[in-house]
Amino acid sequence: MEEITLQDLYQARQRIAGMVLRTPLVPAASLASDTREVRLKLETLQPTGAFKVRGAANAAARLSPEGRAAGVVCASTGNHGRALALAARRAGVQAHVCLSNLVPANKVEAIRALGAKVHVAGQSQDDAQLEVERLAAEHGMVEIPPFDHPDVIAGQGTIGLELLEDFPEMDTVVVPVSGGGLVGGIALAVKHANPAIRVIGLSMAEGAAMHASLDAGHPVQVREVPSLADSLGGGIGLENRYTLELARRYLDQLLLLSEARIAAAMRHLFLHEGIVTEGAAAVGIAPLLEDLGADMGRHVAVVVSGRNVDMNRFLQLVQGSANPEDHA
Ligand SMILES: *Cc1c(COP(=O)(O)O)cnc(C)c1O
Repeated sequence: MEEITLQDLYQARQRIAGMVLRTPLVPAASLASDTREVRLKLETLQPTGAFKVRGAANAAARLSPEGRAAGVVCASTGNHGRALALAARRAGVQAHVCLSNLVPANKVEAIRALGAKVHVAGQSQDDAQLEVERLAAEHGMVEIPPFDHPDVIAGQGTIGLELLEDFPEMDTVVVPVSGGGLVGGIALAVKHANPAIRVIGLSMAEGAAMHASLDAGHPVQVREVPSLADSLGGGIGLENRYTLELARRYLDQLLLLSEARIAAAMRHLFLHEGIVTEGAAAVGIAPLLEDLGADMGRHVAVVVSGRNVDMNRFLQLVQGSANPEDHA
């Protein structure tokens, strides 16, 4: 693996400062105790509603003149796609987002509204990815993937730099894990500063590709299952180059959560801290709500990663009128 260095993270921070928020780290009294303080890193406040704008902005700022002229491309319809569309527009670069026929019209409109060109291809995420590869090969467009890319990881790692500055006593950081760009970047920063800081990851119980890949010792494909933590779904890539190795090196624990625990975490953040989160973003507080066997320390930072949730469904869920297992 080509090494990503602390210098890469500091340079990323300078590059993205103009368009990314230095998010607040707020105390969470409802999660604290006599022996533990807990602070929440509110990436929910970022433009586009999730941390992914950090990595996307860093990668967009690093394009060569040829890359800028040809544009950037990705296959994400979720937080990465939105972030890349915004970052590209700010950088004066055309973004292209490839989707399958199955993506609902409101999502297509949201991506177009950020100035990206939408390419509809096939019936699945795999078909959309083939279209990304075709556009890259035929038109020289630069693919900026959601996690397994040094500039993306370095961008997400700027969260770690901010945590170290704002919370020097921090002994534990809790991070949602899907493809592992977020936790990989943060771990690079905090383990470099102090290898004793524990990095604890959380994924949903079903379809957790990073967890399965760490167990197997190589990237494995998992069956995708609907989850409240929809932003944590998807594989890590069978050709994974960076994030599996970073997770293997730096993750102290990776815990899996049932849908009921994810729902309880979303409810708690809303009712006790007044914070709206998507499922993927709430998972980090689960080991503070009940003992899940994690070694949580005395000075805990929890990364609350995004807030892009269907508001009707969210309201039903926090009012307790929706069954967390029901994804209809
Ligand atoms: C992408 C995403 C994650 C997971 O990040 P990875 O780098 O894929 O591990 C967590 N929360 C939200 C809200 C996301 O959009």
